[in-house]
Amino acid sequence: MKTAFVKKASVISVDESPKPTLNSGDILVQMHACGICGSDLEKVFGQYGQPSMRLGHEPAGIVLDVGDDVSEFKKGDRVFTHHHVSCYDCHLCNHGNETMCKKYSETNLSPCGLSEEYVVPAWNVSHGGVLKISDSLSFEEAAMIEPLACCIRSWKKYSYQEGDSAAIFGVGPTGMMHVMLAHVKKFSKIFCFDVNDFRLNFAKKFNITESINSMDENRKQKIFENTDGLGVDVAIIATSSLKALDDAIDVVRKGGTVMMFGVPSKGAMIDLDMSKIYSKEITLVTSYAASETDTKDALDLIESSKIDVKKLITHTYPINDTQKAFEHAKSGDNAMKIIITK
Ligand SMILES: [Zn+2]
Ligand SMILES: [Zn+2]
Repeated sequence: MKTAFVKKASVISVDESPKPTLNSGDILVQMHACGICGSDLEKVFGQYGQPSMRLGHEPAGIVLDVGDDVSEFKKGDRVFTHHHVSCYDCHLCNHGNETMCKKYSETNLSPCGLSEEYVVPAWNVSHGGVLKISDSLSFEEAAMIEPLACCIRSWKKYSYQEGDSAAIFGVGPTGMMHVMLAHVKKFSKIFCFDVNDFRLNFAKKFNITESINSMDENRKQKIFENTDGLGVDVAIIATSSLKALDDAIDVVRKGGTVMMFGVPSKGAMIDLDMSKIYSKEITLVTSYAASETDTKDALDLIESSKIDVKKLITHTYPINDTQKAFEHAKSGDNAMKIIITK
């Protein structure tokens, strides 16, 4: 079977790898679709690039085989599989910080999601890390469950009300999911920032208030003009660019929240005027990955058609073209979500 590996910085190889062995409680899945995430790009092109890093954590596919003691799943089931699953029993889990749990980072798919076949470990199988999907849901849509779950998790970390306003910095695939969630939450105003014209225009099709180029000199003014001089209730940073944080602090209203959602590069530093953050009483929140609850919530929103993730999938590539797909995702050229298929 073929598996994608990080060969060296910026280079992916798709090589034959040994078929994984199935232990008691494990299940073997044939990957049908797996999205490319910003964190995958960071592993290949960023500071983390090194051999043996696992690529692909958003896979969905068909169960090929199950180990002894697996009764909940059988051959032929269509599933989404979560790569990390927490213990739900430690101090961190008990305080709602499931994605910080030691077990969470220890569990993983083997060899990885970007592989023709992969094993889901017994722990994940028995702790809610495998979700059956309905026949009407495509595997490509199911591959959107994980990124949507990450977005949903971040929305649980601050309070908001119907009619509130949001500014979303970076309208790539997850930024657009935040736009869709803002609609679900009945936000009245949604402002989208990006430097990529394709994405700014793409966002306009989603009933937003305004698409604003992040280089536009009047970008902050546009928000204040549109919010009675108040600023937005929530500013969501869905890009790794920390320049957006500066703008977010300026355009969020007094007492508002800035959500740091995008993955910053390792060692990324920024100068912040802390007096501004203090005197505006801004809450800075971060959100890392997603728990099983968030994943189930994401599946519900997709299955109930409250969020149509299909709209965000612009390209698919077969696993043999993983390098090409990653370069495309990195450039963002006329692209939103790019998915690797069987
Ligand atoms: Zn991801
Ligand atoms: Zn735990």
